[in-house]
Amino acid sequence: MLPPPVEMAKCPTGLGAADRARLDFLYEQLQRQLRTFVGYPCTAGFDYSDLFRFLALPLNNVGDPFTRCTIQMHTRAIEREVLEWFAALYHAPAGEWWGYVTNGGTEGNMYGLYLARELYPQGIVYYSQDTHYSVSKNLRMLRMQHIMLKSQPHGELDYDDLRETLRLHRDTPPILFANIGTTMREAHDDVGRIHAILRELAIPEFYIHADAALCGMTLPFVEGAPRFDFRAGVHSLSVSGHKFIGAPIPCGVVLALKRHVDRVARSVEYVGTLDTTVTGSRNGFTPLILWHALRTYGREGFARAVGACLARAEYAVAAFRRRGIAAWRNPHAITVVLPRPAPAVLAKWQIAVHECVGHILIMPHITTAQIDELVDDCAAHPA
Ligand SMILES: *Cc1c(COP(=O)(O)O)cnc(C)c1O
Repeated sequence: MLPPPVEMAKCPTGLGAADRARLDFLYEQLQRQLRTFVGYPCTAGFDYSDLFRFLALPLNNVGDPFTRCTIQMHTRAIEREVLEWFAALYHAPAGEWWGYVTNGGTEGNMYGLYLARELYPQGIVYYSQDTHYSVSKNLRMLRMQHIMLKSQPHGELDYDDLRETLRLHRDTPPILFANIGTTMREAHDDVGRIHAILRELAIPEFYIHADAALCGMTLPFVEGAPRFDFRAGVHSLSVSGHKFIGAPIPCGVVLALKRHVDRVARSVEYVGTLDTTVTGSRNGFTPLILWHALRTYGREGFARAVGACLARAEYAVAAFRRRGIAAWRNPHAITVVLPRPAPAVLAKWQIAVHECVGHILIMPHITTAQIDELVDDCAAHPA
């Protein structure tokens, strides 16, 4: 006789008492850590409990979200709604864009660079020294020629260095990697100014990718903020989902011009879909998270959240300065840059540091009480 099918959820023993205690301990430890989690661009305090029942399903959005697939355990209709929301937010040309929900900003940046390389195999990637650390790894994996450019002291690309470097390599199509919010100082590279330099040098063929990991969800909601999207002339754009929006699982969105994606599309019979994405199997749960957030907050909700963060970022700068600490922030930034705090402060607070600076991010869940406590600690332990 054949053994009956195994119902994995009905394992007779379940988790033992010691294992349960271990999870309880870890959970409490993480809850405590949340109090001092001020140095990274990740929102906390979300509630996706509406979605928990989907965690009992073997979801998989394998392959291209816009084509049919023989696997039916997917959330691609929800994923497409998420992509349409972002395409409208970033003014992607109707009917001419494509995208998917990624595992985060890094994958979206890799995808943009991949499309650029398929278009211009000999192209040179230009990126500033303030670019996220993952990009140089991406460039090595993709074996793309690249030149690191200087940044200005506040973190934005040095346009004189860009112009002079491009002038020396006018025979090779440039691939420009624009930071829409650098990692340490949240500075924005000016896409309009990059276009002006390309025009000035009469460079006809180029590709621009926008790394909008954090600011893709802040700048669109700020009056008078610089344009960085498809309207400003980028060819692809990557934004993180677990940063400003907030998610328990890292995720993101990449959007690109469809004509460039068509060059890399390959049909695969095994899954009955197009192999246009970096990974094969793809997360079917993270599109639900993003959809839940977009439906809950909408543009108005995000605009309110961004406005509140900017106001508290200004509050933080003023509070540090009153205590003689030279804090500052870029225009429209929720990142507050500090002199590198003393080791005692770094031992208590989870603050990112790079050489002589540190930073905190005033994400939606950061309270003025946390800011006040951190300011007191910094004042008590001068850098
Ligand atoms: C966070 C970040 C990344 C990487 O994004 P992940 O979602 O962590 O993969 C890339 N660029 C910038 C500017 C970032 O802030």
